[in-house]
Amino acid sequence: METRIPEALKQQFKNPRRVFVLTGAGISAESGIPTFRGAGGYWRQFSPMELASAEGFARNPKLCWEWYLERRAGIRQAEPNPGHRALARLEGRAGQMLVATQNIDGLHRLAGSRNVAEIHGSIWRTRCLATGREYEEGEVQIEGGPVPPLTPEGNLLRPSVVWFGEMLPQGPLLQIEDFLAEPPDLALVIGTSAAFGYIIEWAVRAKRRGATLVEINLDPTDISPLADYVFREPSGQILPRLVGEEGG
Ligand code: NAD
Repeated sequence: METRIPEALKQQFKNPRRVFVLTGAGISAESGIPTFRGAGGYWRQFSPMELASAEGFARNPKLCWEWYLERRAGIRQAEPNPGHRALARLEGRAGQMLVATQNIDGLHRLAGSRNVAEIHGSIWRTRCLATGREYEEGEVQIEGGPVPPLTPEGNLLRPSVVWFGEMLPQGPLLQIEDFLAEPPDLALVIGTSAAFGYIIEWAVRAKRRGATLVEINLDPTDISPLADYVFREPSGQILPRLVGEEGG
């Protein structure tokens, strides 16, 4: 059964002034990309906690890269789903909008979102372990070469993603700080277990500044008790209804 959308909230989606959006792995689940903490969260009996860390990489860069190569192959097949596309449409008619995502899959941009802060980096970028130099997709050979892949100078490359225990990148953090410096009227928290303190902190800050806080998630999280509206529906179903259908 479809959840009823309250009229007051429908109005808020019509012509929002400033929309702050936080997304997690759940928004990409309907594109076929597995979440971390959901079913099938383990990969060859290793947990992401073990693989997605500087220690895990140092212990076994080959194993870590095999995991990322497999994820890259899966993500390359994936397409943005109706949830991603609805957010891109909302940006088109919002005064200003920022999508801060924990996802490394690049699907928000592919769907047409322009103002995106990738707080956990991107699976399509790599970084030289020795110099920190960053490479875009296509600049260095990742697939079909040695595993782990190397820079032209022969240095070890790592995925340019944020691993457990690492700092968030400055650029995306500043994007978020700048955006929240002016009060948003709508804040959407979508498909994230909100396991990281900064996700809750940003959502609380948006709400304190006057935003209506909406959570979209299949399961309860620490955001749920703070939210003005909660939708326990797949984001690919409820977002098009909140934003309006394609072409509409
Ligand atoms: P998570 O796996 O911890 O939580 C996902 C949440 O989404 C859960 O609360 C789940 O109930 C909900 N969910 C699942 N399917 C949904 C759907 N169709 N609609 C709405 N909600 C749905 O993910 P997270 O909070 O993003 O956390 C952690 C880390 O996982 C991040 O660091 C992120 O970088 C990484 N990650 C990214 C990807 C990706 O890039 N797509 C995939 C897996 C993990």
